[in-house]
Amino acid sequence: MKIIVCIKQVPDTKGGVKFNPDGTLDRGAMLAIMNPDDKAGLEAALRLKDQYGAEVTVLTMGLPKAADVLREAIAMGADKGVLVTDRVLGGADTWATSTTIAGAIRNLDYDLIITGRQAIDGDTAQVGPQIAEHLGIPVISYAQEIKVDGDKVTVKRQYDDGYHMLEAKMPVLITALSELNDPRYMTPGGIFDACKAEITTWGRADLKDVDDSNIGLAGSPTKIARASDKVRKGQGEKVVPESPSDAVSYIVGKLKDKHVI
Ligand SMILES: Cc1cc2nc3c(=O)[nH]c(=O)nc-3n(C[C@H](O)[C@H](O)[C@H](O)COP(=O)(O)OP(=O)(O)OC[C@H]3O[C@@H](n4cnc5c(N)ncnc54)[C@H](O)[C@@H]3O)c2cc1C
Repeated sequence: MKIIVCIKQVPDTKGGVKFNPDGTLDRGAMLAIMNPDDKAGLEAALRLKDQYGAEVTVLTMGLPKAADVLREAIAMGADKGVLVTDRVLGGADTWATSTTIAGAIRNLDYDLIITGRQAIDGDTAQVGPQIAEHLGIPVISYAQEIKVDGDKVTVKRQYDDGYHMLEAKMPVLITALSELNDPRYMTPGGIFDACKAEITTWGRADLKDVDDSNIGLAGSPTKIARASDKVRKGQGEKVVPESPSDAVSYIVGKLKDKHVI
């Protein structure tokens, strides 16, 4: 079985968010981590490898420094890493990102593609299903459990406060939730292998069946008009009214003060 896991290097927003003048994220200026949902997706792939035997390839599109998340994945147990990086691919929205990733995946053999449900920076949850659409394969999203039986996968899919059991014939794309599992740690031997590992690096020229009008900032139908860090509101005020009617008159008073009513 051949499994591809799409991993995104995301800014560690705990360290504060920095933007370029054009509103895109200044990724070079921020600490970077492996997107949490993707780490759970990788762990799911490694457990399928342990259980059924599989080759796990991790793929990322980003700045050259995104190779760091591929090495982290190899140190956790992935077999191969593919970095898709090229200036012309920069500033991509989800359409251009998924078009690019699908163009890279067309060079690889696969039975199963696993992506995260969503990235903690763009937060759109669009790229996974878009990749499946470009490749013409089914998608099962929000996986909580993944089982393989021959050429079929059975997935427990999170749904409101319940779940669906869905089955699909491979090849199929699954989007993973970070609740899916507790990812393993990198092993010392794995870290050693990861430092030596050969990372395959592809650029625009290596993308299969991709049109220039669908890549990078120029090929992105969605333009981020303005992006800014959330404004941190001041400390809230804690009020303990004597009675419910005191609470009501207090709130009404506040709303009047603020000319809301
Ligand atoms: C604040 C902000 C808002 C944005 N809003 C929009 C918007 O509304 N519409 C829009 O089109 N674009 C938007 N973007 C751009 C968008 O973030 C990028 O296109 C991004 O590359 C993909 O979208 P995402 O981060 O939402 O990923 P999701 O769609 O949330 O990612 C889902 C999964 O796809 C895989 N994946 C995503 N990106 C990569 C990658 N580079 N390499 C490997 N795997 C990957 C991962 O497995 C990930 O878990 C926004 C960016 C920012 C920073």
